[in-house]
Amino acid sequence: MKTCYFCQGEVVKKRIRHVHHWGDELVIFENVPSEVCTQCGEVYFSPEVLEMMDKATLGRTPPDKSVAVPVFSLP
Ligand SMILES: [Zn+2]
Repeated sequence: MKTCYFCQGEVVKKRIRHVHHWGDELVIFENVPSEVCTQCGEVYFSPEVLEMMDKATLGRTPPDKSVAVPVFSLP
């Protein structure tokens, strides 16, 4: 993929941190191979990467580490 689907901007390969919401749960993937639009910031994942993330979430693979996430509810 060379250009952004939305804005036709330039898309570059990058390893990013991706936050995945799973119902009330939050899963963070680090070092995720992705392609990011330099113009609008849209992130693209390959089907292989999406499948790896799906398997990690559904298969309950033990995570490499866990972090506490502070939650603030605004009035
Ligand atoms: Zn874009």
